[in-house]
Amino acid sequence: MTHFYSIAISRYPIQPLVYSFSEKLKSGVRVWVPIRNSKKIGYVLREVEKPPFQTRNILQIVDEVPLLDDKMLQLAIEMAKRYFSSVGEILDLSFLPSHKDVKSKKITEVKNRYLILSASVSKILISRLGRREEEIVEYLLENDSVEYTYALKKFPRSSIKSLERKGFVRVVEMDPLFHPKKLKLNSEQKMVVKEILSSPQKPHLLYGITGSGKTEVYFEVAENVLNESRKVMILVPEISLTPQLLLRIRQRFPNRKIGVYHSALGAARKKEWLRAVHGEIDILLGTRSAVWVPIKNLGLIIVDEEQDESYKQYAMRPFYNAVDVAKRRCELEKATLILSSATPRVETYYDAKEGKIALHRLSSRAVGKLPAIRIVDMRGRRTEIISQELISEMEKVAKSGNQSFLFVPRKGFSPRMQCANCGYIFTCPNCDVALTYHKNTFTLKCHYCGFSEKVPDECPKCGSKNLIKGGIGTERVENEVSKIFPGLRVKRIDKDEINDVSSLEEVLKEISEMKVDIVVGTKMITKGLDFPRVELVGVIDTDHVFAIPDFRANERAFQLIAQMAGRAGRGVEGRVIIQSMEPDNSVFNAIMNGNIEGFYEEELKRRKMLGYPPFKDLILLTIQDKEANRSKTFAFQTKNVLKGGPFEILGPVESPVFKLKNMYRYQLLLKCEKLEDALDFLRKRLTKENLKFDPSISLKVDVQPYSTF
Ligand code: ADP
Ligand code: ZN
Ligand code: ZN
Repeated sequence: MTHFYSIAISRYPIQPLVYSFSEKLKSGVRVWVPIRNSKKIGYVLREVEKPPFQTRNILQIVDEVPLLDDKMLQLAIEMAKRYFSSVGEILDLSFLPSHKDVKSKKITEVKNRYLILSASVSKILISRLGRREEEIVEYLLENDSVEYTYALKKFPRSSIKSLERKGFVRVVEMDPLFHPKKLKLNSEQKMVVKEILSSPQKPHLLYGITGSGKTEVYFEVAENVLNESRKVMILVPEISLTPQLLLRIRQRFPNRKIGVYHSALGAARKKEWLRAVHGEIDILLGTRSAVWVPIKNLGLIIVDEEQDESYKQYAMRPFYNAVDVAKRRCELEKATLILSSATPRVETYYDAKEGKIALHRLSSRAVGKLPAIRIVDMRGRRTEIISQELISEMEKVAKSGNQSFLFVPRKGFSPRMQCANCGYIFTCPNCDVALTYHKNTFTLKCHYCGFSEKVPDECPKCGSKNLIKGGIGTERVENEVSKIFPGLRVKRIDKDEINDVSSLEEVLKEISEMKVDIVVGTKMITKGLDFPRVELVGVIDTDHVFAIPDFRANERAFQLIAQMAGRAGRGVEGRVIIQSMEPDNSVFNAIMNGNIEGFYEEELKRRKMLGYPPFKDLILLTIQDKEANRSKTFAFQTKNVLKGGPFEILGPVESPVFKLKNMYRYQLLLKCEKLEDALDFLRKRLTKENLKFDPSISLKVDVQPYSTF
């Protein structure tokens, strides 16, 4: 008997097709199917009725047992709709980039193996050791244990073997000497754990300043979930955050199997993926792509730093947001969702306020005190990169032997116009976002509505003619600091200096070993790092963040400052100095007065008035072509096709980065009352026949873009 199946095609932006086969197939298995003149991997979604048209036969079965269950299929179908993508493209995210040799056969179990000390410290210390052997012992004294494969990379095999022969170290599969570092939770933490466990099927927001003990709270919840034999997934925004957290997870859960999954893993990625899908991992730690790993029996997803823009995939299809995917996945799996943040997105805060997410506050710092924050007014002092105030604080810190962190904005960022005298930033009269300075045309432009004006020659607020654009880069600050403090050890951390995980780990180690006095860095240093000896955080310039022409600019500035402040005073009493030409900004006021709610309320009011999320959903359409004119023409054509839709259309305007990789880009921004309706409309209207695009033109549809910049 012939069966018919609806099959989603891998790496193909088309809707599922119907194929026939002589055998009964389970939903969720992969097959090879013919398409045009080639063959592709397809995912069997479900059996369907015989269609009225001629179908082609499935060529071959890939999986003996399905790796995807109904919940994963359902998730993919919904997310394909949501992100204007195909089911096949979404399902691809659940697999490795290459489908080759990855069959769903049982694999032999891989266990974490660790190297540990197996003799008393005194005994080891009195014996004679080689230099490398000593290094290994030192490392183990510091870290308790090291994963064996990692040890082999770090130290010579012969030295490890020699220590093993002497009986000083041992390789174990699960470390019996490895004492879990379990803290006694304080009463506030205990209460939050209890609340979360009592409503496991609700999404939860753990909201507390950095250092308030959120990680310990979700560890405790994770332990409960693991004890029920369900699996746990922990998502972090960046690969650079995995080493520190991984170590903590290993210490807290020494008897659990822990996996790491992110796109930079190389060959190990396959191993980790296989372990995860075969139920051999209890806790999977990963970046946004990990949310798609088809782990069975998932009981908990934790999203750390939920506000982070890295959760949104925006550079390639499909443009999903892993936080939203995690939320839906938890609903389908009946699993618990915990979002954790010191500075949640305004949308998340709103959902919590509306009761859609259970809000749990952690109000006190578990260790250390919150730092004192001081704003230094930089108006009229443009030649000073590092203010006298900041220098004198840095001197004090150096005397006490602690560390200073200086935060510098990303270079080449948002060319805004600002008055050097009063700090006024030129903003669009219609959109309340910063105008972008265009050198060629000598104009200021709004990238939302298209407003444009000649560069004014004086400040509308104070009349000064001293107008400036741009910001200061890390290198310049590094040079300046080295000149002012010739005796101190300065390290720069930015994407140019540090471009892989191992060099980052190295610097982090140097910092924690107090081999560095001053760290100068970009956003990379604001994230999740926990160094006890940071006494001072200096923020060189925040004005650029307010000036990003985006509806999220205030939110970002707020998050950035709050996170920087969180770096200081972990083990010592900390201070924060922020240099700004806009010292009266309401965001600063909220932070300095500890009035965080005030910031959110104010921002919600503004968003409501201007029709931004969470009150309206955005869809960003980007049209690009090698020729600027053609791109523009097609942008207008697209707008025509969309007339009468259930949304407001802004644009077309040049994209903020107008020319990218030799492509000229125009964008349309849709403000939608109801996202579903808008998407339905787009699906009907944005067809090849309607658009009549040249093949060279590309159209990107980004649903709920993180930013419009
Ligand atoms: P967050 O995730 O909110 O930044 P963490 O959970 O990382 O906070 O806690 C910050 C620091 O405080 C960590 O070093 C952690 O070990 C410590 N800590 C957290 N909770 C407790 C507790 N109940 N008792 C002692 N130390 C704690
Ligand atoms: Zn001015
Ligand atoms: Zn505008």
